[in-house]
Amino acid sequence: MTTPTAKTRRLQQADQAHVWHPFTPMRLWLDTPPLVIERGEGFCLIDTEGRRYIDGVSSLWCNVHGHRVAELDAALREQLDRIAHTTLLGLAGPPSIELAGRLVKAASPGGGLTRVFYSDAGATAVEIAAKIAYQYWQNLGQARRTRFIAFREGYHGDTIGSVSLGGIDTFHRVYRPLLFETIFVASPCPHVHPAGDGAAAAVLAEVDAALAAHAGEVCAVTVEPLVQGAGGILTHPAGFLRDLRELTRRRDVLLIADEVATGFGRTGRMFACHHEAVEPDLMCLAKGITGGYLPLAATLATEAIFEAFLAPDKTFYHGHTYTGNALACAVAIASLERFQRERIIERMGPKIERIASFLGGIASCPNVLRTRQCGMMVGIDLALPDGEPFDPAARTGAAVCTRAREHGILIRPLGDTLVLMPAPAMDDATLAALLEGVGRTIEEHFRG
Ligand SMILES: *Cc1c(COP(=O)(O)O)cnc(C)c1O
Repeated sequence: MTTPTAKTRRLQQADQAHVWHPFTPMRLWLDTPPLVIERGEGFCLIDTEGRRYIDGVSSLWCNVHGHRVAELDAALREQLDRIAHTTLLGLAGPPSIELAGRLVKAASPGGGLTRVFYSDAGATAVEIAAKIAYQYWQNLGQARRTRFIAFREGYHGDTIGSVSLGGIDTFHRVYRPLLFETIFVASPCPHVHPAGDGAAAAVLAEVDAALAAHAGEVCAVTVEPLVQGAGGILTHPAGFLRDLRELTRRRDVLLIADEVATGFGRTGRMFACHHEAVEPDLMCLAKGITGGYLPLAATLATEAIFEAFLAPDKTFYHGHTYTGNALACAVAIASLERFQRERIIERMGPKIERIASFLGGIASCPNVLRTRQCGMMVGIDLALPDGEPFDPAARTGAAVCTRAREHGILIRPLGDTLVLMPAPAMDDATLAALLEGVGRTIEEHFRG
């Protein structure tokens, strides 16, 4: 490592003096001068020393088309020449109007989702879905319906309501006394469920039993469709989502699909629900909605839900100052247009294949326990050669990711699961370089 420039050192020190980083054990953070990313270009990030890195996790799962994409930049500049922000409380605005129509069309081919409630983070999109689901039943006079069913190892964001629906002990345990009481069922990922390949049937039976035991008390079931992201890229068996939809319909409870991570191409379709032709009652969108440019989120709802809020005394009293921000909506429209013009989804097949064959190749590494993939969402479980987990204190996953930087790759683990989340539009050469670098990093790290 060369000595950093004075500018880099000043920024590193100022960061460590004042910035409290998300999801970060800060004692460890303060031990090492941070990497300071200053610019981006396509699918690369560039630090203050001018070093380039492939953005292997899409800047935490949100980037879609790359960085500094000319037409997205232009859409922002054009909107900036009109206005940056006006409120949606009592007023309307062109970007939020145009985007809402396009979102329901993109998300709901069956036309079931018709209404868009904006906010600014995945957590708020879920918080809003939960409050709408709860109040929906209150508005219909079913006051006893106050409970939610959610999945263990699930993640829905970090506000209190979203944490209440979250099932990741490391993140959520300390807050339990603060939270509303959710009914948790097992994750149907065969790698974490004791029933293995029988996981889907076992979990559906568990959901059904919970709905029977709490008849008339459940407002909604919350699910990350197809993949539980933050839980460790836990992929669900094919058909599980479709069967869950059928079950919730039969038992007359709402289904909330949290597509915050899976939406906008990440799974190989525009939305994960589309793989199984599922129309949820509420759908949560964020991360990729603006192509990864600006914070924006949306909670989509059916007309039936919307109608339960029409009477003045049934109003949904919820909103955020920046709800439907004009700049964010303008770039989200440009992102959706780019999806169509560049045929992003249609062109993902070979890239998904390339990732699959890479994973097949590294399966023989002694320290690769197993891998999971859904489209561009990848988890690589690392373990000792005998399959036993590493000592968590060794932070093996983090160490491998730090080593990847020497190969010009930025990735971030979930415990000892390496996560790859290339942008849906990543070009083939960059994707090949990313995979090659990750393979070499793993090989090198465990060669000892
Ligand atoms: C990231 C994520 C969230 C939270 O989104 P934020 O924008 O970070 O609040 C919610 N649900 C899922 C499935 C996520 O992956």
